[in-house]
Amino acid sequence: MTDSSFQSKLPHLGTSIFTEMSILAHQHQAINLSQGFPEFDTPVFLKDAINQAIGDGMNQYAPSPGLPNLLQQIGDLVQRCYIKDESRRLDPMKTITVTTGATEALWVAFQTVVRPGDEVIVFDPAYDAYEPDIELAGGVCRHIAMQAPDYAIDWQQVRAVINDKTRAIVINSPHNPTGTLLSQSDLETLQAIVLEHGLYVISDEVYEHMTFDGLQHESVLRYPDLFERSFVISSFGKSFHCTGWKLGYCVAPEYLMTEFKKIHQYVTFSSFTPAQHAIASMLENHPEHIDALSDFYQHKRDLLVDALKGSRFEILPSQGTYFLLLDYSAVSDLNDLEFSHWLTKEIGVATIPLSPFYQADSLEEYHKDNKVVRLCFAKHDETLIKAAEVLSGL
Ligand code: PMP
Ligand code: GLN
Repeated sequence: MTDSSFQSKLPHLGTSIFTEMSILAHQHQAINLSQGFPEFDTPVFLKDAINQAIGDGMNQYAPSPGLPNLLQQIGDLVQRCYIKDESRRLDPMKTITVTTGATEALWVAFQTVVRPGDEVIVFDPAYDAYEPDIELAGGVCRHIAMQAPDYAIDWQQVRAVINDKTRAIVINSPHNPTGTLLSQSDLETLQAIVLEHGLYVISDEVYEHMTFDGLQHESVLRYPDLFERSFVISSFGKSFHCTGWKLGYCVAPEYLMTEFKKIHQYVTFSSFTPAQHAIASMLENHPEHIDALSDFYQHKRDLLVDALKGSRFEILPSQGTYFLLLDYSAVSDLNDLEFSHWLTKEIGVATIPLSPFYQADSLEEYHKDNKVVRLCFAKHDETLIKAAEVLSGL
């Protein structure tokens, strides 16, 4: 029985493109370069540490903001990576909360700042969680499209859409799906705009430790005045090859974090305790894992790029993340959704089309000029070589 008077809060949304393509890949036994997750296992140390925590009886609720030792380790990590100035040392107990993945951190950050009727600036292509999170907080997305091949933010356009209702700006660097990085000049411009208009920033930095060719990740944490108005969000799933553990965190100034914590305690109260023990131990004992991540993924990017060089795909630059974009204009006239389905079913390689990362009413415009799909290269070298061989045959 269905209640015909029931109104969906998200009538325009269905299953996410990541779920859709992974299911299709499985059905057709295609090489799955679609949904972003590592094919390889989480480090042995981490697996042993979580087993140890469970065996030692660490199986009850953690404190709501996170285990003190993990908060301390995250504080040390952000200090080491971004805040060299000791006089700016953050108090982890007041400025950090451990969350159930970056997904929960994003949800809570939007709930913390967005009020009914507020506008939030989102850059397309955008990760799929932002829009529903903003809408469910009662806000409205103001989409600004970034264009291939560099997918840079047009800050003039940002200034032009800001009005009395504008509340926040969402940034994501390193960027999913394009693999681009925001520069120092981007962050400085953002800082000037945010301070001038009294806005807030939700900074999705889940791929922070994966940047290539010696490029530096410009975390909001490097910019003290910008940080004062920001939520910086990251994910251990990305950094430690354990996306299924759903553990992430948010860093924000104390006055914002106090409000964030109130909402977090009623979304989930606390995140999975054994994983918190394991990650704290990993951060303490194996800092070299994170330091080696960029080289690890740059090797995979280079392997895939080299293997695709003779193909008819145009390879777009990837400066960070574990994603690479391919322009297939020379291969097919299909739109990107049709192409991804065909590639999975008939050719045996699953990718992610880019159009679901765009707002629905600009899709027609988008399809006229863009034939681009996203490949995830967090896979074994053999998998990447096999996929490239198949794609090079087209
Ligand atoms: N933001 C971006 C840009 C992502 O790619 C992901 C990965 N799914 C997330 C947030 C969510 O991260 P998590 O799996 O930790 O919830
Ligand atoms: N972030 C992953 C991606 O971009 C997917 C995560 C998910 O399926 N929600 O592919």
